[in-house]
Amino acid sequence: ASGSEENDVVVIGGGPGGYVAAIKAAQLGLKTTCIEKRGALGGTCLNVGCIPSKALLHSSHMYHVAKHSFASHGVKFSSVEVDLPAMLAQKDKAVGNLTKGIEGLFKKNKVNYIKGYGKFLSPSEVSVDSLEGGNAVVKGKNIIIATGSDVKGLPGITIDEERIVSSTGALSLKEIPKKLVVIGAGYIGLEMGSVWGRLGSEVTVVEFAPDIVPTMDGEIRKQFQRLLEKQKMKFMLKTKVVSVDSTGNSVKLTLEPAAGGDQTILEADVVLVSAGRVPFTAGLGLEKIGVETDKAGRILVNERFATNVSGVFAIGDVIPGPMLAHKAEEDGVACVEYIAGKEGHVDYDMVPGVVYTHPEVASVGKTEEQVKSLGVDYRIGKFPFLANSRAKAIDDADGLVKILAEKESDKILGVHIMAPNAGELIHEAVLAMQYGASSEDIARTCHAHPTLSEAVKEAAMATYDKPIHM
Ligand code: FAD
Repeated sequence: ASGSEENDVVVIGGGPGGYVAAIKAAQLGLKTTCIEKRGALGGTCLNVGCIPSKALLHSSHMYHVAKHSFASHGVKFSSVEVDLPAMLAQKDKAVGNLTKGIEGLFKKNKVNYIKGYGKFLSPSEVSVDSLEGGNAVVKGKNIIIATGSDVKGLPGITIDEERIVSSTGALSLKEIPKKLVVIGAGYIGLEMGSVWGRLGSEVTVVEFAPDIVPTMDGEIRKQFQRLLEKQKMKFMLKTKVVSVDSTGNSVKLTLEPAAGGDQTILEADVVLVSAGRVPFTAGLGLEKIGVETDKAGRILVNERFATNVSGVFAIGDVIPGPMLAHKAEEDGVACVEYIAGKEGHVDYDMVPGVVYTHPEVASVGKTEEQVKSLGVDYRIGKFPFLANSRAKAIDDADGLVKILAEKESDKILGVHIMAPNAGELIHEAVLAMQYGASSEDIARTCHAHPTLSEAVKEAAMATYDKPIHM
């Protein structure tokens, strides 16, 4: 289909923001076209982000427990080996199935899909350079920019995706590096560092800031770092990377204390640059139609996702806010609901964040530091997985649940969980908070035994009373 007839909605970008917006628009009866330049739907998340990283985290975890924990459960092998090409192929299969699945959803919902690079000709016209050759003009009453984000480079470091890699290269290394240096202790660096560390790499994480994952609750973060160190991940915090030289046999990083001082050299086989992500709007022609961006290049929108140019909207990683797939999806649905004349809604205080290491770390709402800075009187309820029967039964008991509740009303302000499957456990807390529950509401809700979720109930008890099992 050419898309030359006027659409109600044109979406530029087929990532979690864009493809979800397109499907929702079509479901609401709007004639919709989605333009994607990658040749596959699903954006960063499905192709080079959430999905392939979780596939490798799972596979590498299976190897690690087979090698280090099975024997203590009475399961013995003569040997356990990594078959890296097979591991990477399983990841690629998962990605391929899921991206094709979205194409199927487009067909089912009658979303017109154009493979090509979109750029604005006017606020209601997009020129598309088709991947198959040729060019078309796509018209839309409403145009949604969902062009996402890209890897943030570091000055003086050239990413070759072989020895100096971004997260994309780190998802497809051909060999297990002996020494891997990760620049940046955000969640992507820690997840990819965990994958290769489990497969046998010696992993050193270099971070300019004094702490890993700055958005995390301080107490949880400290315990989390200790657990990663127990897994042999090394941290060099408050350390600046001055230069990276990949001309020799190994890659040499010149480091310096963040506050200044003597330089040191660190050698690596592979360096992962994971210093964050930046909004992607290259070649889109924003200047041409006058769409406003902030200093970081993010597109500015109002609470209805409208830019300063009438009929042009933006969602997902390309606008301010947490750069997360589920946040992009929520943006997409709400934006389209507004366009269709309905009410949309995204509660940015209730967007959960998960680090998919082992154990996982998941949180929603405020950290203790944030609660303190608001000057709210609060109570803390904590429960360690060491006292949780299921965690003990499966011999996987590192971590805790921490609940922060307002002292006066017992309203839940924030929940932080470090545990196996914390990314699944957190949704009980998200739902409770979304409905304005008190901590006692969770504590008085019956939880099945024996489950990891019982630790959430016990931590909730501990905010206003005593837990039973501690
Ligand atoms: P994107 O997914 O970036 O999609 C934008 C799409 O637009 C791209 O496919 C791009 O090709 C296309 N595009 C751009 N410009 C044009 C143009 N002019 N014409 C046509 N097409 C265009 N988030 C999570 O929530 N959970 C995770 O576990 C997680 N893990 C991650 C792991 C890694 C290694 C990385 C890199 C990211 C991870 N993220 C995770 C973040 C997540 O991938 C992003 O937040 C999410 O993809 C943002 O969705 P989006 O639709 O805004 O943009």
